[in-house]
Amino acid sequence: MEGLTLLHDAQKTVLAAALPLGLEKIGLLEALGRVLGEDIIASRDNPPWDNSAMDGFAVRWEDIKQEHAITKPVVLKVIEDVPAGKVATKMVGCGQAIRIMTGAPIPKGADTVVKVEETEPAEDSVRIFKQVERGANIRPQGEDVKKGDCIIAKGTQLRPAEVGMLAILAKSFVLVYQRPRVAILSTGDELADLDERFDETKIVNSNSYGIAAAVQETGGIPMLLGIAKDQPAALKEKIAHGLNADILVLSGGVSMGDYDFTKAVFKELGAEMNFWKLAIRPGQPLAFGKIKGKLAFGLPGNPVSSMVTFEQLVRPALLKMSGHRSYGRPVVQAVFQEKFSKRPDRRHFLRGILSMDNGVLKVRTTGDQGSGILTSMVKANGLIDVPEEVERLNPGDTVNVQVLSSQFWVH
Ligand code: AMP
Ligand code: MG
Repeated sequence: MEGLTLLHDAQKTVLAAALPLGLEKIGLLEALGRVLGEDIIASRDNPPWDNSAMDGFAVRWEDIKQEHAITKPVVLKVIEDVPAGKVATKMVGCGQAIRIMTGAPIPKGADTVVKVEETEPAEDSVRIFKQVERGANIRPQGEDVKKGDCIIAKGTQLRPAEVGMLAILAKSFVLVYQRPRVAILSTGDELADLDERFDETKIVNSNSYGIAAAVQETGGIPMLLGIAKDQPAALKEKIAHGLNADILVLSGGVSMGDYDFTKAVFKELGAEMNFWKLAIRPGQPLAFGKIKGKLAFGLPGNPVSSMVTFEQLVRPALLKMSGHRSYGRPVVQAVFQEKFSKRPDRRHFLRGILSMDNGVLKVRTTGDQGSGILTSMVKANGLIDVPEEVERLNPGDTVNVQVLSSQFWVH
C-alpha cells in the first residue's frame, strides 16, 4: 500500500542499525539472566579425577570376579577408611579394599567400586556378596567436561545451569554484555504523571510505566524522562537529555495531528530518519531513526499500539544490543477458535488467549481489539499474527502466535 512499510522490512532496518553494546565484568552471583560476552573454555577436566559414584569399597576387580558370590562371598582386608574430602594414602593390593565415599578419588591399584549395600563388615575385613563388572561405580575423569572444550558459547543467556557450570570452572567473575540504557519519554499536553494532582480532563501517563516494564523484561535499564508538552522546544530539550542513554523510546505525537511534533523534532536534531507508516494494526504511525548515533523510536500514543510496536521493533533491537543471538519471541501454531475478517493490506496482531485443550493448542481473542483497550493486553498471553494478505480466518484455521507468557502450558 502507498506509503506503508512492511513490518518485515522495518524490522530488517532496525536490526541493521542496532549493534551489540560493549562488555563488562561482573560477579557470578549477578550473572543470572545476563548474556555471556565470551566463550567459556574449560580450564580443567570435570570431574578432575576418576571418582566413586557410590559409598563403598574400592577393590581390584581381579579379586572379586569369582562367581557364586552370594553363597561364597569374597573376603577382602580393609586397609584404610577414607572420609569425605580426604584422599587415600595407601594403594589397594592383592586381597585388599579401601572404604571410600561418593565423589572420592579412586585409590591407586583399585579399578572397581562395590556398593556398601552389597557388602557386610567383618572385623578388619569386608565380605562382598555381589559380582560386579570391571570399572563399576567409577565416574571417569572428564566424563562431564573435557579440558579445552567450549562449554558455554558467547551470546548465551545465563540460567542457573550455566551459573553452576561457571562455578565448576572456578569462574567467579564473568564477561557479559552491558545492559542497554533506555530513555523513555511520553509526549502530550493531555498527560499527567502518577505523582501529580490531576482532574478528569487529564490522562494518566501509563505508557512510561508499561514501556519501562517491557524494557526491564527484555533485560534493559529504563530511565524515565517524564512527560514532554506538545511543543517542539520542550520535546527537543527532553530528547537531547535522553541522548545520554543507549536508545530513546518516545510515545505519542507521531500521528498527523496539529500537535504531533515528534517526527519534525527528530529531523531537527539531525536524525537520519527512516519515516514510517507501518502496514500493521495496531500501531500504524511510527517514527524511527538515528539521532547522534543513538536509535530513536517514536511509538504511537495509544497504550496497546505502543506495547505491540515495542514488541515488534524495540524488543528485537534491545535483544541484539544486549548480545543475544536471536531476537524474537517463541512462535507457536495454534487452532483459531473464532471468525475474523480484515482487508488484505496490513498485518494484524490480535491479542490472544492460548490454552491447551487435551493436548491441542488453541487460541481465541481477548474480545474487543480497539487500540485503547489495555485490558486486551492484560488478558493476553500471546499475539496472534495475521499476515498482510489474509482476509479471513475461520474456526479451525491454524495461526501463528507469538508467546508473551508461557503460563498456559501448566493449566
Ligand atoms: P497520540 O499518538 O499522541 O496522538 O496519542 C494518542 C492517544 O494515546 C492519546 O489521545 C492518549 O489517549 C493516548 N496516550 C498518549 N500518550 C499516552 C501515555 N503516555 N499514556 C497513556 N496514554 C497515552
Ligand atoms: Mg499526543
